[in-house]
Amino acid sequence: MRAVRLTHEFVHYVPEQLEPGVLYVSLPFTTVVHLCCCGCGNKVVTPLSPTDWSLTFDGASISLSPSIGNWSYPCRSHYWIRGNTAQWAERWTPRQIEAARTGTGQSGQGHSEPRRRSLAARFRQRVRRWLRQ
Ligand SMILES: [Zn+2]
Repeated sequence: MRAVRLTHEFVHYVPEQLEPGVLYVSLPFTTVVHLCCCGCGNKVVTPLSPTDWSLTFDGASISLSPSIGNWSYPCRSHYWIRGNTAQWAERWTPRQIEAARTGTGQSGQGHSEPRRRSLAARFRQRVRRWLRQ
């Protein structure tokens, strides 16, 4: 699949009618909303927080991190938004998803261990739910 060019719009409230290919960035509500880049029309909400997504705005374009995995939608699309472009990523296996969540990036922080474990547990639960679908 080819990369999809996007535009961004800074808004206070996210409009009810979303245009495809537009990233609606609401700083007052610390959230970004867009229609799934595969074209399926599903609304993708990415809250901005230290444990959710982070937004980078370089003055011209928007990037979101980490990648966006629409596992709960039928399209199951997975892409990165970098520089107002949706770049398609591989579909991850549940094992890969879990490895990413519990990977080396967060290890070595002893004090955050309990929280890390509960996040991993929550993720395992979510993966099980996806697998049942
Ligand atoms: Zn989609």
